[in-house]
Amino acid sequence: MDQVLLSMGSRKGFIVISPTLLCNNNCIFCYENYRDNAFRAVPSVDELFDRTIGLARSTGLSSVAISGGEPTLYPHLTSYVRALTEAGISVCLLTNGRTMADENRLRELVEAGVGHFHIPLHADQEDRHDATTRSQGSFRQALAGIQNIMALRRESIFKFSIVQVVHTGNVKRLAAFIDFAARFMPDYILFSSCIVENESPESQQELLVPFQETVDALKAALPAIVAADMPVYLENVPPCAMRGLETMCLDFHKYNRLRVHGLKAAGDRGLPSFEGLEQSIKSRQRARPVPCGRCVLEPFCGGVYRSHLAAFGRDDLRPFSMDEMRAMIQTATTPAQQDTAHA
Ligand code: SF4
Repeated sequence: MDQVLLSMGSRKGFIVISPTLLCNNNCIFCYENYRDNAFRAVPSVDELFDRTIGLARSTGLSSVAISGGEPTLYPHLTSYVRALTEAGISVCLLTNGRTMADENRLRELVEAGVGHFHIPLHADQEDRHDATTRSQGSFRQALAGIQNIMALRRESIFKFSIVQVVHTGNVKRLAAFIDFAARFMPDYILFSSCIVENESPESQQELLVPFQETVDALKAALPAIVAADMPVYLENVPPCAMRGLETMCLDFHKYNRLRVHGLKAAGDRGLPSFEGLEQSIKSRQRARPVPCGRCVLEPFCGGVYRSHLAAFGRDDLRPFSMDEMRAMIQTATTPAQQDTAHA
């Protein structure tokens, strides 16, 4: 395999590659479940690597997030990670963590070059987590994997983050979840408000939570966040619904500062191998409804999921006015002003 040394500059963003959409969980909110995974060809490492490098060159991005399905079910994962690392690309693995219960498998992936493990925990309790994944034993395995990660972080340097999809079944337990997740000392916790894609089963609409309810739950969890003393973010909720919690709003950052390109294992749509993956915040799944036209943040906002609008309408969108924005800018303290204040 060619050695490809990439000097990509400092472009922010990453490439998402899903080598397989197969999964050993069956999460209630999964937006890949509607696909027919039965007859997919397994891509070779050479094909995957060449396609990834092609994207890296065309986009100028040098970070790859390997996603799925569950990427550890891709049989050539270690070789693929090693090839990327040798080419100068940093690798993040978006895994459900179950395979990491095997300490040797984890060590092999770290040695191959995985620099960041991003792992979902769906609850702080076994029965709730396993009911969400519809896979008995998934909680115990994921926790065993996380404990192995904690142990290996004592001797190797790599990042680790925890993500929770927030839905009607867990939104009231955010504080308890933060207490629980903080024990594993992740670099950050991400709450990802549940989304339903255009193609997903309609029954998943029941899992959606109004923005206000999610934000109120996060506000109620602020003491737990302070006690945890680590960054906590929320995504899939627009800035106007997060007044007062702006620093936790990931959507604004993703829309304005992150570029995401990707490839997803294909096969069920007559495509030869991969289909392009849309940057979710700029995808056709989102819309900017009427109130957004009155919002000064509109050019910098990714809008909201169409499924959310279908479920709750647009009443929880509160456009930013120019006066409000001016007041926010005037009251904001710049780092230089802070330095002066401390002098
Ligand atoms: S553009 Fe629309 S969704 Fe975005 S912050 Fe403004 S009102 Fe909210």
